[in-house]
Formats: sequence, structure tokens, C-alpha cells
Amino acid sequence: MDKKAMFAISYGLFVVTAAEQGKHNGCITNTVMQVTADPNRISVAVNKSNHTCGMIERTGRFTANIISQAATFELFKRFGFQSGRDVNKFEGFSGAWAGECGMIVFEGTNAWIAAEVERTVDLGTHLLFIGKVLDMETLNDTPSATYAYYQEHIKPKPRAAEGGGEGKTVWRCRICGYEYTGEEIPEDFICPICKHPASDFEKVP
Ligand code: FE
Repeated sequence: MDKKAMFAISYGLFVVTAAEQGKHNGCITNTVMQVTADPNRISVAVNKSNHTCGMIERTGRFTANIISQAATFELFKRFGFQSGRDVNKFEGFSGAWAGECGMIVFEGTNAWIAAEVERTVDLGTHLLFIGKVLDMETLNDTPSATYAYYQEHIKPKPRAAEGGGEGKTVWRCRICGYEYTGEEIPEDFICPICKHPASDFEKVP
């Protein structure tokens, strides 16, 4: 089985936000899609380890902010590489205002869609939320950033693998570019930068 076939699927990128008791949080996902048109519904799968996941589960509301090609790597670091359990991801961020279903991010995005959860499916590692669209708005006409666009144009280019040669094996995180040196990468390894698992690392040739 060729696991790389999964990379042939194209994805968008989103800041999914939620609000609970006046506290705001959000995380980066590539899993938002429209699932029905009438009624208009979207779905999003969120990893249970994300603080945002529990907030959506408890409040039944979320906003999907669609990331555009104007987004900087800073946006991904702010919402993707740290946890809302430890920090307020919106601190010092001027690119958002409070919406009824979570923060509306207008910096590095081109539209937002707010939804009310109708159904939640437990998928083990993730919860899949299916929500009815309550409100939405187009902010500008900058094209949406696909996951491929992020890899090609937004994520910093990794430096040449240090200690390559010399028989050392380097593994690079496909998500953020972090490099791990070692013959095999431990199965339970978690990227210290973006928190993705060992399966998201590839051997640097
Ligand atoms: Fe990473």
C-alpha cells in the first residue's frame, strides 16, 4: 500500500475558533468542508488534544476562518504551534474580532463561516463536528491557501540537513520543517514545534 496516495488529496487550511465563557481560542486544521447545501452544513474534524475541540464540544458552536495566500508563517505559529491551554493565542493579535461563535480572524484569511453543531461523531483521535451554517462573510478575493500552497510558499524552507552525510539519518517534519536526527524515529515521537506525530516525518534524502 502506497501511503503517499493520501498526499494526492487537496486540502484547504483554516483557523477554527470557539468561545467559551468569554475565553477565545482557535486552532489550525485542514479538515473543513461543506457537506450539504440545503440546509447548508459544514463539517470539521478536530483532534481531541486541541483545547478548541473541547470548547466546540461544550458550546456547540465554531467559526471556520478560511486561510488565504496572504497568510504569514506567524499565523500558523500563533494558532498551530502552541496550545490554548498554555497561552492566550489572541494576545497581542490585532487581526480578529469577537464573533458569536468564536473569533473572526480577518488577517491572512478571505472568509469566515460560523456554524452550530448538529451532530458530533467520535472518531477516536478526533471529533467530527457537523454544523448548520448560521452566518458567513467574504472578506476579500485573495485566493484560499491550500495545504500544498502552505508547503510551497508559506512554510520556511528547511535549512540543509545538519549532520546529513556521516551516515546520520535526518527526519523532517512535513508540517513545520523540524528536523530529528537518528536512525529511526520513535513511533511515539511528537514534533516539539507543531505537535504532529512521527508519521508526519519523512526521511531527508
Ligand atoms: Fe512539526
